[in-house]
Amino acid sequence: MSVPANVGVLGGGRMGGGIAHSFLLAGAKVHVVDISDDAVAAARDRIHKDIEGSIARGAEGSFEDYVGRLSLSTSPADFSGCEVVVEAVPESLDLKRNSFASISEHAPQAAIATNTSSLSVTELAETVDNDVIGLHFFNPVPASKLVEIVVAESTPNALVDTARGWVEGLGKTPIVVKDAPGFASSRLGVAIALEAIRMVEEDVATPEDIDNAMVLGYKFPTGPLALTDIVGLDVRLRIAEYLESTLGERFAPPQLMRDMVARGELGRKSGKGFYDYST
Ligand code: NAD
Repeated sequence: MSVPANVGVLGGGRMGGGIAHSFLLAGAKVHVVDISDDAVAAARDRIHKDIEGSIARGAEGSFEDYVGRLSLSTSPADFSGCEVVVEAVPESLDLKRNSFASISEHAPQAAIATNTSSLSVTELAETVDNDVIGLHFFNPVPASKLVEIVVAESTPNALVDTARGWVEGLGKTPIVVKDAPGFASSRLGVAIALEAIRMVEEDVATPEDIDNAMVLGYKFPTGPLALTDIVGLDVRLRIAEYLESTLGERFAPPQLMRDMVARGELGRKSGKGFYDYST
C-alpha cells in the first residue's frame, strides 16, 4: 500500500494533472512532462490550484511540501530516475506509440502505465521493452475512488501486484481487468447508456423518467442520460463506434445519438444534450 518514490507523468492535461496531484498528495515526487512551455505552465497552474483545493478540504500537508515535490519540464530525459511513468497524452494510437518510444529511450528502467480509455494496452506494449500496464483513472482524478488496472498479454504478474499497492496507496480501489475493449467500466457504462438512448428514441419514457428508473430504482448516483451529458455525447459516440468495431453490433450507436452530435447537442459542454443547460 505505498506509492513509488519517483513518478513521471507524460501529458499534464485534465487527467495527467489530476494523476500528478494524487501522487503528490500520497507522498511521491512527481515530474510532469508536457509538449510546450505554455502547456507546462497550464499544467503547473492546474496542479497548484487542485492542491490548494485539497488543502481547503482538509489535506494535511502544507502547500510548500506538496509543490516542493513537483517538477515540470518539456524534456522526457527528466524521467530518468522514475520507477513508473504514467502516460496521459491525448487518445491517439500514433501519439501514444511515439510517447512510449520516447519514455523508453529516456527511462528504460521505468514501468510504463497508460491511462488510455480505449486503446489496446497489449498493442501499445509491443512498441517497447519496458514493463507496461494500464492504469485507467477516472475524471476528476482526485475525487474518483476507482482505478482500472488493465493487464496486457505481456504485463508481468509482479507488476499487477505492485500496481494494486500503488492504487491503494493513492486511497483508491483497484479493479483488475483483462485488456479487452472498453475494459469493465466503459463497456458496461456505454451499454447502459446506449439502451437508455434507444428508449428515448422509441419514446418509451422521458429522459427524466428513464434516469429516475436507475437513480431511484437501482440506486445509480446519476442516471445514464445525465451521465452521458456530463461525459459528452461526442465522446461516448466515439467509444460506442470503437466498441461496435471490436465487440459487435450490440454497441451500434443509435441514430438519435448521431443526430444529436451532428446538431452540436453534446451535453453540458454545449448547453444542450438530453437536458437543457442554457439557463
Ligand atoms: P487533455 O487534452 O486534457 O490532456 C492531454 C495533455 O497531453 C495536454 O496537456 C497536452 O498538451 C499533452 N500532450 C499532447 N501531446 C503531447 C506530447 N507529445 N508529449 C507530452 N504531452 C503531450 O486530455 P485528457 O482528458 O487528460 O486525456 C488524456 C488521456 O486520458 C487520454 O488517453 C484519454 O482517453 C484518457 N482519459 C480521459 C478521461 C477524461 O474523462 N478526460 C478519463 C479517463 C481516461
